[in-house]
Amino acid sequence: MGKIGAISAARDAASAAGWPLADDLRAEFGHVSTWVFDLDNTLYPADCGIWPLIDQRITLFLADLFGMDCQSARALHQHYYLRHGTTLRGLVEEDIDEAERFLEFVHDIDRSMLKPNPALAREVARLPGRKLIFTNGSRNHAILTARQLGLDGLFEDAFDIMAAGLTPKPEEAAYDAFFRRYSVDPGKAAMFEDVAKNLVVPRARGMKTILVTPKPGQDDHRQAHDRPDPLVAASLADVVTDDLGVLLRRLNDALG
Ligand SMILES: [Mg+2]
Repeated sequence: MGKIGAISAARDAASAAGWPLADDLRAEFGHVSTWVFDLDNTLYPADCGIWPLIDQRITLFLADLFGMDCQSARALHQHYYLRHGTTLRGLVEEDIDEAERFLEFVHDIDRSMLKPNPALAREVARLPGRKLIFTNGSRNHAILTARQLGLDGLFEDAFDIMAAGLTPKPEEAAYDAFFRRYSVDPGKAAMFEDVAKNLVVPRARGMKTILVTPKPGQDDHRQAHDRPDPLVAASLADVVTDDLGVLLRRLNDALG
């Protein structure tokens, strides 16, 4: 096969696998100089068992705080999530001043089942420009989880829910606080997220948006309403991927 034929075959293979082509990635992401990553279920896969541990501890915290049985606490947990976006936001709205104790308690988990991901670390390191974590969890959770994944030292900082004044994504104020804190021009930034609604504001502000989904058949421990409808996902994300490491490798190869 001649060179043109080989290039054409490679393009066909990439296209058939559903991957954006290098030319398209360059055109879409060539101007990006700040790469923003959600943490939970984005930098680690949704089936790895970490999120259910946090989820259970949120319920346990509510049970203890209100003196409830676990079933009632679970129902309250769901109620807060649906009504306020996060449990912590629900507590804040009810003037319950427990943010720091809540964050410390729910993130006090064993992360040892999370395997280091050197391939992902290599590609995050290669991205041209600034790299930041933007999480609705705590900064300490982001640091410990990144360390467990072998990603420590690769991010400029981790912006957390305390830094956002207890206002979580997907609320606009959370993104505004983030953009201000790091002087980020959203028109030159990209956002990686597993929750589609958290891409609404980034997209409206001109960020490139990447939705990270579980692989087909993989366990998905996220809340049912956080699992995006494919049509909604397509309308909010410039790229949808079930393999963040491979996408970043393709991006780096395209941009290099
Ligand atoms: Mg997430």
